[in-house]
Amino acid sequence: MPKDVSASQRPVVQSWSAGRPAPDLSQPSADRIACTTCYMCACRCGIKVHIKDGRIRYIEGNRDHPVNKGVLCAKGSAGLMNHYSPARLRKPLKRTGPRGSGQYEEIEWGEALATATSWLKAIRDSDPRKLAFFTGRDQSQALTGWWASQFGTPNYAAHGGFCSVNMAAAGLYTIGGSFWEFGEADWEHTRYFLMFGVAEDHDSNPIKIGLGKLKTRGQAKFVSVNPVRTGYSAIADEWIGIRPGTDGLFVLALIQELLRAGKIDEEYLRRYTNAAWLVIQAPGADDDGLFARDAAGQPLVFDEALGKITPVHQPNGKPSLAGKVTLSDGRAVVPAFHLVAKRCLDPRYAAESVAEETGIDARVIKRIAAELAHAAFEQTVTIDQPWTDWTGRRHDRMVGRPVAMHAMRGISAHSNGFHTCRAIHVLQMILGAVDTPGAFRYKPPFPRPIPPTIKPTGHAKDLYPGKPMPGPPLGFPTSPQELLVDPDGTPRRLDKAYSWEAPLAAHGLMHQVIRGAWAGEPYKIDTLFLFMANMSWNSSMNTAGTIDMLTDKDPATGEYKIPRIIYSDAYASEMVAYADLILPDTTYLERWDCISLLDRPICDADGAADSIRQPVVPPDRDVRPFQDVLLELGARLGLSALVKDDGSPRYPGGYADYLVHHERKPGVGMLAGFRGPAGDKQGVGAPNERQLDAYVANGCFWRGEVPASARYFKHANRDYLEWATALGLIDKAEPIVLQFYSEVLQRFRLAAQGHGPVQPPAEHRSRIATYFDPLPLWYMPFEEAAVDRDAFPLHAVTQRPMAMYHSWGSQNAWLRQIHGDNFLHIHRTTASRLGVADGDWVWVESHHGRIKVRAKLMDGVNPHTVWTWNAIGKRAGTWNLAPTAGESQQGFLLNHVISELLPPRDDGQRYGNSDPVTGQAAWYDLRVRITKAEAGDGVAEPQFPALPLPPHLPARPDILRRGGKP
Ligand code: SF4
Repeated sequence: MPKDVSASQRPVVQSWSAGRPAPDLSQPSADRIACTTCYMCACRCGIKVHIKDGRIRYIEGNRDHPVNKGVLCAKGSAGLMNHYSPARLRKPLKRTGPRGSGQYEEIEWGEALATATSWLKAIRDSDPRKLAFFTGRDQSQALTGWWASQFGTPNYAAHGGFCSVNMAAAGLYTIGGSFWEFGEADWEHTRYFLMFGVAEDHDSNPIKIGLGKLKTRGQAKFVSVNPVRTGYSAIADEWIGIRPGTDGLFVLALIQELLRAGKIDEEYLRRYTNAAWLVIQAPGADDDGLFARDAAGQPLVFDEALGKITPVHQPNGKPSLAGKVTLSDGRAVVPAFHLVAKRCLDPRYAAESVAEETGIDARVIKRIAAELAHAAFEQTVTIDQPWTDWTGRRHDRMVGRPVAMHAMRGISAHSNGFHTCRAIHVLQMILGAVDTPGAFRYKPPFPRPIPPTIKPTGHAKDLYPGKPMPGPPLGFPTSPQELLVDPDGTPRRLDKAYSWEAPLAAHGLMHQVIRGAWAGEPYKIDTLFLFMANMSWNSSMNTAGTIDMLTDKDPATGEYKIPRIIYSDAYASEMVAYADLILPDTTYLERWDCISLLDRPICDADGAADSIRQPVVPPDRDVRPFQDVLLELGARLGLSALVKDDGSPRYPGGYADYLVHHERKPGVGMLAGFRGPAGDKQGVGAPNERQLDAYVANGCFWRGEVPASARYFKHANRDYLEWATALGLIDKAEPIVLQFYSEVLQRFRLAAQGHGPVQPPAEHRSRIATYFDPLPLWYMPFEEAAVDRDAFPLHAVTQRPMAMYHSWGSQNAWLRQIHGDNFLHIHRTTASRLGVADGDWVWVESHHGRIKVRAKLMDGVNPHTVWTWNAIGKRAGTWNLAPTAGESQQGFLLNHVISELLPPRDDGQRYGNSDPVTGQAAWYDLRVRITKAEAGDGVAEPQFPALPLPPHLPARPDILRRGGKP
């Protein structure tokens, strides 16, 4: 032990400010402080922006805000460097050279809007489907999706299809809510927190605050299941470095252990799920696997107390969870629980069977199962709060199972992600741990009916030239009849969402859009309209192929195969060079915006909430908020909902006007707070002319508290269901029965087996029959199953760094100092076997291509997995970075070696690299091999030709200083 050193002997550490004049602390840091909402990631924290002499000087967290309570991360603090980025676009641009040449001409807004209007009007008057409108990290989807409906095109989606739609869809089709940012752990009461595949992006600050509470309380165990030990996993009490794509096996093995030990919450399953509902057992019949129902359509159960088959929900009934019975018409039926238990007890899901595939020792799996059971059944949490269930039955207290779970993209971005996420929800139900004290909790507006009642629009009967569609482009099919396919099975959408390739594609398939538009499949389009989606770079698989598709010409006509591309972005991203018309957006600090309950709100389990952004400084460039531009284009096109009877714009004040006056249905608008003429209504109420003022005065947010008696068991809690109905969150105060067994999936499987009026074409039948399984299921990810596992022995995944989010963050002057380039991280023993040392260059090869990158060795990673930070690599010449910037010279993307298509099957059919249920992009299915490479010139490969910058971007300062003063 070193000896203590007395103060007088300690070396004097030179202060960083030595020799500089002392700062004058009496000077005010700002002459104005404005509240608004952060947009540096998806978390939507409240911020206070300090402004002095008209320039932003500093951003701090808003302590009163429900999301972050004052907490601000590195990204949020660095927002002013995004705002003053030298990469900001300055004026509308028209392409003057070939696509990809970077040759543009600055034009006035009048010309830009007239050009866009002329292109779009011709489409709308002939065939509105020929507009494909896709947005990236868009936080105004309640507007953009509505606008697409008004235009009349079904070809709309935001980026959810390549983010975590498996997470959303599996949750919404199973428990009526989901993880993502739509639910949260009961941080105050949980005793065991199990987290799967979560990096530091969605719900970032709330999770950090929650983990802080767990650690402070000191009574809860935090287990993180993730191939990589970074971020949250680094502070977990136990890290389980699972092999990617095998989480479903792990979860099913946990369920098997709980079933074997009898550690299941039978009461919860009977009361709140369909586990007791009787399922028809009639192989070959057209009702096989469907629920038996009475003449009124009520599902039937076998009641143990009464000794007979009855409709569900009999007073004092005790529905059975096991045993075969016979209906009066002779059909055999069993409770759904019987089928689920039989599946989960299959020997293939035994702990010993899954140990090798998952990389988790069977003893660890058994111990985790025992710990879950102990927390759930031996440490129950009781809250002395009476409540009433939907039948009117009064309960003295709220009693819960304090096991909480959370999952995200690490589960979702696999081709088996939908079923893995469903399995996690089944595990929660078995433990009685959905929205009970100590468990996962819904955030309003969830739970919703399972699935939500909105259906996708885009059938032939829905589309007419010059007319809006009668409904939204995105929704939740419950049967094959609701798919968007022609009678011969041909998809009706460009991205093939809601077709037999991706029937439950709740968020669309953005990663299939460019290929579809280029190939003219299923039909040719005219204009691709993109908003903040960097599709020629980090938002696409097969980057080089995507660039080829964007620039490819029809040899017969000499015209581009994708005839027109309109793009809106705030920055000189890689995509700008491939657009024909560029509409420059503002930064998030220069516009009105809305985080709406109609889209992805900022609620917490105890409150409904929404928020706004306000312009805290005016734009200093000739740019316009995209939402304003969209509304103006709609008015110029004469979209009926966007013009008054006299043809003048309905919302002449732009998005702020729309936020206040637009009503989706009577009394329900974009903002739920301060409604009614006097601003005293919440949820439902007439428009309030002073609504935005009220939000600004309240720190730019509104929050309505869930009543104390309504805070748990929301799916069956009368007070909650009535409160949510009054607020306009759900249509009716009816119970939401958790779908332990999925009849919706079975309906699709029956179609594939030859039943019903709408059946898949022959080439899709076995795929639908296999993956539309109503029971929990695990299968090997498609790419892993298709390639030679010995030839490509490693998994390759990305992680989101805590300090960055998408490509906007990796051009930020402050954040670049944290991550200026990236490495391929390899487990030390794996690297040693390959003869790779720290800092060596390596080739990373997949079935699709290869990249050359630098290696970094570490211990905290699954030995069969390599990984890197996401979206740091940039193309030379873009984002106004120096030609020698680390991001373009040593930084890289795994996207280059990920294909948007799976390898061809024996019959030549090539499916997208997607989940077969939802179409979710399977980014994390990637398999690679690593070989040592020569360092060469010390530059990562591939390198694409440097792109010239758009005209009149400011000179790139050597140092971009705080406050934007160069
Ligand atoms: S977590 Fe996201 S929204 Fe919150 S401060 Fe950080 S970047 Fe902003």
